[in-house]
Amino acid sequence: MLFDTVILSGTVVTENEVYEADLGIKDGKVVTISEPGTLQSGKAKVIDAKGLHIFPGLIDVHVHFNEPGRDQWEGLETGSKSLAAGGVTTFFDMPLNSNPPTTTKERFEEKRQLADEKSVVDYRLWGGLVPNNLEHLADLHEEGAIGFKAFMSECGTDDFQHADNGTLLKGMEKIAELNSILALHAESNEMINYLTDKAKKEHRLSIRDYCNSRPVLSELEAVERVLSYAELTGCKLHIVHVSSKRVIDRITEAKQQGIDVTAETCPHYLALSIADFEEIGATAKCAPPLRDQEEVEQLWDSLKNGDIDIISSDHSPSPPELKEQGESIFDVWGGIAGCQNTLHVLLTEGYHKRGVPLSKIAEVTALQPAKRFGLNPTKGSIRIGSDADITLVNLNEEFVLKKEDLKYRHKISPYVGKTFIGKTKYTFSKGKCVFEDVPNKASV
Ligand SMILES: [Zn+2]
Repeated sequence: MLFDTVILSGTVVTENEVYEADLGIKDGKVVTISEPGTLQSGKAKVIDAKGLHIFPGLIDVHVHFNEPGRDQWEGLETGSKSLAAGGVTTFFDMPLNSNPPTTTKERFEEKRQLADEKSVVDYRLWGGLVPNNLEHLADLHEEGAIGFKAFMSECGTDDFQHADNGTLLKGMEKIAELNSILALHAESNEMINYLTDKAKKEHRLSIRDYCNSRPVLSELEAVERVLSYAELTGCKLHIVHVSSKRVIDRITEAKQQGIDVTAETCPHYLALSIADFEEIGATAKCAPPLRDQEEVEQLWDSLKNGDIDIISSDHSPSPPELKEQGESIFDVWGGIAGCQNTLHVLLTEGYHKRGVPLSKIAEVTALQPAKRFGLNPTKGSIRIGSDADITLVNLNEEFVLKKEDLKYRHKISPYVGKTFIGKTKYTFSKGKCVFEDVPNKASV
């Protein structure tokens, strides 16, 4: 058989095993998986993967590339190149903070054209659920929206309104009818506003005060409410960026009660604590906020126990000015830029430090996202016939993340200066090499 690319003698990581093999890629698909050292390369591009691990390309279900409208914050080209450098081969772009947001068919089409033109990896798009766009949900679904996103608390920009309870209920009824899925930013708006006003009035404006103004309880209250709405409407839910095991546990309990719900967390909740936030400053501000180290360790337990379905980045960048303006940490832009380093965080903090199996990492970054959103078996695991979405990693290579390594529009990330163990060497998206760390290693 004639291949476009062959990857020789690498160690393939799947959700249930790790084994050595040669891979043959043709027309963007994995067409052969054979015993190591047996594949004839012919005229194909040859990658010598001896000593490298081959992961299924990551699927990042949660990024904000902000195009159109706020591409001075990031953009589809810089964003997708960052993903390629981190082994991510598919992203789902959130309906905000593009401006206008992706809440109608026309805006969806506009973003799709831009993504086709600019993205170096594969992608899907979320639609938005906001007050007064119920009549657009069916169109968005028909256009191919991977699901819908709503906020239960204010999102930080005026152009994407958070969903009040009535909007949520009606939206969920509609989304259930479409057999789609609702992703929720679940924090209690009332609790946050109450605690924020109180903190400001009492001049408690430190980083810890900010974190305390968005407590785990606020996540719990919102999740509880929306779980009951899910039971009522039958709407499938995906709870994004959960920061605490307490919330994960409630979601696990709901699953056992028959509610169709999945839980996502982000690398920053696993890698960074409030102490790090205090040291790094505004670059590490996000919502829900970072938690104490004890919570961080508990979240790792949830991951090991299989209670976390998906790990995605919630890449939410901004220009540097927005991280500097404002009277206190309460007023600066909240959002962490980190999508280039999801796998690096999981390998360093998970596999090397805490003994998280490689298969578990492949499961939560590729297989489960693909399954949850209907992309499996085309994506999510390395098998014959699947898209050749692949990333090759040297598990033991250490590197210190430097600003200039970042492909983001703005070279800002809380991980700058951090030592990672496990380096991305190559990334293939549908068989095309979209990132290469060692140019001399590949021959044509
Ligand atoms: Zn987000």
